Amino acid sequence: MEKKITEPESRVPVLAEADVAVLGGGPAGIGAAIAAADAGASVVIIERYGFLGGIPAICNMEPSSWCREAETVMPGGVQAMLEKRILERDAAFPPFYTPSTSLVYDTEMLKQVLDDLILEHGIRPIYHTLITAPYIENGIVKGVFIESKSGRQAVLAKRLVDCTGDADIAARAGCPFEQCDLGPDEKTNLMFGTLIFGASDVDTEEFMDNLKAHPELLDRPRHEFISTGFKKAKAAGYPIPPDGFQDKVILNHLTQGDATAINRVRVPVDGTDVQSLTQAEIKSRKCVLDTLELLKKFEPGFEAARLRNFATAMGVRETRRIKGAYQLTQEDIDGQRHFEDTVAVYPVCADGPGRVAVATDAWFQIPFGIMVPSGAENLLVAGRCVSATKDATHTSRGVDFAFATGQAAGAASALSIKQGKNSRAVDIKALQAELVRQGVRIG
Ligand SMILES: Cc1cc2nc3c(=O)[nH]c(=O)nc-3n(C[C@H](O)[C@H](O)[C@H](O)COP(=O)(O)OP(=O)(O)OC[C@H]3O[C@@H](n4cnc5c(N)ncnc54)[C@H](O)[C@@H]3O)c2cc1C
Repeated sequence: MEKKITEPESRVPVLAEADVAVLGGGPAGIGAAIAAADAGASVVIIERYGFLGGIPAICNMEPSSWCREAETVMPGGVQAMLEKRILERDAAFPPFYTPSTSLVYDTEMLKQVLDDLILEHGIRPIYHTLITAPYIENGIVKGVFIESKSGRQAVLAKRLVDCTGDADIAARAGCPFEQCDLGPDEKTNLMFGTLIFGASDVDTEEFMDNLKAHPELLDRPRHEFISTGFKKAKAAGYPIPPDGFQDKVILNHLTQGDATAINRVRVPVDGTDVQSLTQAEIKSRKCVLDTLELLKKFEPGFEAARLRNFATAMGVRETRRIKGAYQLTQEDIDGQRHFEDTVAVYPVCADGPGRVAVATDAWFQIPFGIMVPSGAENLLVAGRCVSATKDATHTSRGVDFAFATGQAAGAASALSIKQGKNSRAVDIKALQAELVRQGVRIG
C-alpha cells in the first residue's frame, strides 16, 4: 500500500486577488489573459517556468500554424496580434519551403515579446510558480493554492481559466476527464513526448543543396523532411533511435551553421506522472545524442555537427481532456459543422494516424461548450485539454486552437462577472459580440 503522511494544518497567505486568474502561460493562457483584460477584467497569469509561451517556448517548437497556406481561414484575434508583433520585432522566419505561410517563431524572442504584451495589457504575471490545487468554498472554485520559492500561497479570483494543458485544476476540482493509459509495457495510444534539440556546426549549404536536389524529401505541408541520413542508416543496418517515427525529421529553420530545432525523438510518457516524466526526460536526452550521431554519420551537411542545446524540457502532446458540456468530434471537423455557440472559426486540416494533412479553405466553428467542465461553476478550461474525442485531438491540440479557445474562455470569464452570471452561463450573443470586437472571426 502507498505510504501516506498527514500535512500539518496551516493558514495560507494570499499573494494576489483578481477578477480572473489564468492558470498556465501557454498559448491558451496568453489568449485567455489578454482577452479577459481587453474585456475590462483585472487579471493574473500564473506560470511554473520563468517565461510565458508554453510548449512553443519550452520546446523551441516549430511553426505554430499547422498547414497554413494562402487560402487557409484563420480565427484571428490574439494569435494574429501576436504574430504581427513578432514580425515587427524581426523574430519570425518563413519555413524553408513553400507554399506554407506558417511562420517559424524565434522562440527566445517570443518570451520577451510576451512579457511586453502581458504588461501592456495591465496583466499581473506570477512566474516560477506551480499551481497545486483549487481553493474551493461552498462547492465553488474561488482560487488556487500555489507553491514557489516564497512558500505555499493562494491566489483568489472571481473566475478561473485552467490553461495548464493537463487540466490540472479542473481534475483536482473533481471535474470528469478522459485520459489514455501509458500501460505497463508502454504500448499505448497516448501520443509520444519529444525533446527537441538544436545542432551547431552544420554545413547548412550542403544540407540545403541535398534538399534542393531531392525535393521529394519534403513532406509538405507537415513541415517534415524525410531524412536521407535515416534511409542510408537503415540500409546500412545501423540502429535507428528510437523506433516509431519512420525516417522523418522535422526541421524548419536553419541559420548560418545552426539547425535550431530538430524534432525527431519520440518517447512514451505520461505527463501527469512525475516518475514517468523523469524517466522519459532521461531517455530522451540519450535518444537525442544517438540521433545526432546518426545524422553526423549519414546526413549531408551534419558531418561536423555538435549538440547546441536540449530544449528546456521535453514536450508532452497529450494528457487529460475534460468531459465538457459538448465534446468536439472528428465528424464535426470534417463536416465543417456550425454551432449556435460558436466562438471562433478554425481550418479543417489535421494530421494524425491514417490521415494526410492537406491545407484547404474549409473551416468549422469551435463551440463554447467544449470549454465548460461538468461540476465546477466559475472555472473554464482552454487549450489542448478541452473536451474532444481522441481523433479530434489532432486538431484541438494545435497552438492556434489553444489561442482561440483561450481567448473565448478569457472573454467569457470577464463578461460573466459584468452579467452577474456563472462563467458557464455567460450570455453567448454578448460573448460573440465581444470576440468580434476583439478581432476574432466567429463565422
Ligand atoms: C514537441 C511538440 C511539437 C509540437 N509541434 C506543433 C506544431 O508544429 N504546431 C502546432 O500547432 N502544435 C504543435 N504541438 C502542439 C502544441 O504545442 C500544444 O498542444 C499547445 O502548445 C497547447 O497549448 P496550451 O496552452 O493548451 O498548453 P501548453 O503549451 O502545454 O501550455 C501550458 C502552460 O501551463 C504551464 N503549466 C502547466 N501546469 C502548470 C501548473 N500546475 N502550474 C503552473 N503552470 C503550469 C506550462 O508550464 C505551460 O507554460 C507540438 C507539441 C509538442 C509537444
